[in-house]
Order: sequence, then structure tokens, then C-alpha cells
Amino acid sequence: MKPTPNSRELAPLLAFGAHPDDIEFACGGVVARETRAGRTAHFVVCSGGEAASHGSPEQRAIEAEKSAKILGATLEFLVLDGDARLEMRAEHAMKLARIIRVVRPGIILAPSLVENQHPDHPKLGRLVRDAARLARYGGVEELREHAAHAIDLLLHYAVTDEAEPKDMTPLLIDISGGEVMALWTAAMAAHASQSATRDYQQLQLTRAKLHGLKAGVEYSIPLFSSDPIVLDSLVQLGRGARSF
Ligand SMILES: [Zn+2]
Repeated sequence: MKPTPNSRELAPLLAFGAHPDDIEFACGGVVARETRAGRTAHFVVCSGGEAASHGSPEQRAIEAEKSAKILGATLEFLVLDGDARLEMRAEHAMKLARIIRVVRPGIILAPSLVENQHPDHPKLGRLVRDAARLARYGGVEELREHAAHAIDLLLHYAVTDEAEPKDMTPLLIDISGGEVMALWTAAMAAHASQSATRDYQQLQLTRAKLHGLKAGVEYSIPLFSSDPIVLDSLVQLGRGARSF
């Protein structure tokens, strides 16, 4: 893929997932949109998905590699406590912070903090939030090897409807358009083992369609910021979702 002329100005996108398919199903369309605009993207998957009902960790690693490649992202697996066993530990946050200092992203994507979902998801969301803080603290002994790094923004994604924070106004990212939708659909299809009993792909497309209707576009993916977003000017604002 050829970068666009201004791609040097776009800091990398870094996405964390608790399981091999979380990032792609929750917000693969957003990633495709960003990589097509010339931004580099890197995925960090924090378990092999070994507790899932379908697909061996080996099979799922192959699927995840294929899926990330379709979206134009690189991928690494990071072993923490294992699938369905993730605990809040300072050493985990240190490991994630080290990756943040190496990749030096502008935007980070992580699971939402809503409790009513897979227990690994909100825990990873909190660990990433902590790690983003540790990455910018100059005095953390364990991280001295790499220069401190302050990200621009942490955005949370929801793997399912239940994981969307109901008390927050989402940012609705317009992912309409043939190429991005084709890449997202192909990336989800690459996780073939996960569609054995439920059509997760259709579930995500329907959610995106619903959010698109709200936004007045064809398809849209919601992302959530825990922090106020700073704008240089109102010119940077898009439009509100009042079209339906
Ligand atoms: Zn998951």
C-alpha cells in the first residue's frame, strides 16, 4: 500500500485486544480506514484465545495474522495470564507501557471498561489506561530503556452492544465506502473458527448499520473517549448525529 503524502504526520495507531479477534470484530473498519489514509497500525493480542469453544490457539494465531494483514496492520502476541484469567497486575501495565514506548502511537484503541462483557475485556481496558500513564512518566525505573512517550488519545471500543458505555456520547466513525467495508468484512471472515456457531460477522455489520443510520451514513463504528477531546478550532468538528 502506498502511503498518502501526509502519512509522515500521522502517528501510528496501536490497538490492544484480549483475544485474537476482538480488535477486528469491534473496530476493524476504523483500522482499515486509518491504514488506507497512510497511518501505520499495530495490534497487540494479550492471549491465544485458548478458552474459546472453537479453534485451537495455533489456528487462531494463523487467523489473526491473516486478518491483521488484510487491515494493513502488524500483529504481536503478548502472554499475560492467559484467556479468561487476566488479572490487574502492575507488571502487566509495565509490559503494555513498554510496547507503547516502542511503538510511540498517537491514538490507542482498547476495550471499553463496561463490566457486563467477557471479564478479560474491561480488565485489559483498565490495564491499557494505566499503561498509557506509565508510558509518559519519566521516572519509572523498569521503563528507562525507552524514552517516555505521551499518547494523544485513548479510545475505547466495544466488542458487543452490551460493552458500549451507555453514559458516554460515542464518537461515530463513518466507515461507509466499498473498499473499507470490503477490507473489514474480509478481516472478520479470516476468523473462520469463531463463526462456527454464531454469525458474529453479521452481528457486527448490523451494529455498524444501526450506528450508521443514527449518523446519517451507511455504516459507522462507535468509539468512546474517557477524556475530554481538545480541538484547535470548531473547523475540526464533523457533524452531530441527528439524521434519523
Ligand atoms: Zn474477547
